[in-house]
Amino acid sequence: MTLPPSGPPSGEDTSFGGWRSCDVCGEAIAHIEDAALGLRAAPLAERRAAAREASADSRPLGLVAWDWGHVECMGAMELTYVIPGPRLDSMPKLVARTLQLLDEEWFLETAWEDAVRRFYRVPFE
Ligand SMILES: [Zn+2]
Repeated sequence: MTLPPSGPPSGEDTSFGGWRSCDVCGEAIAHIEDAALGLRAAPLAERRAAAREASADSRPLGLVAWDWGHVECMGAMELTYVIPGPRLDSMPKLVARTLQLLDEEWFLETAWEDAVRRFYRVPFE
């Protein structure tokens, strides 16, 4: 049996791909040091209020999206959680962030999978 070549298998791109523009102002993000991924407090609070009022026949609640943008744009909003861009600019770092987030009681109420897929090509398995 031959060993696989070192590095990622062909066809799998593990490079970071999600830093091009800001969700808040729409302008380009030139450097990842200027960017952050944030979870806004207001949509999370709204979802929780809706969950308290929901009855058995209510529609399922959507997940709270993460926003990606300039540090300054994100800083103008009230955030429940913020991850500086350089702390998720490689797949190992993103996995480390995911493991940290698992401890947060609101984690499963957020669209973390969408955020991950925005930054990296992850196989659907
Ligand atoms: Zn911006």
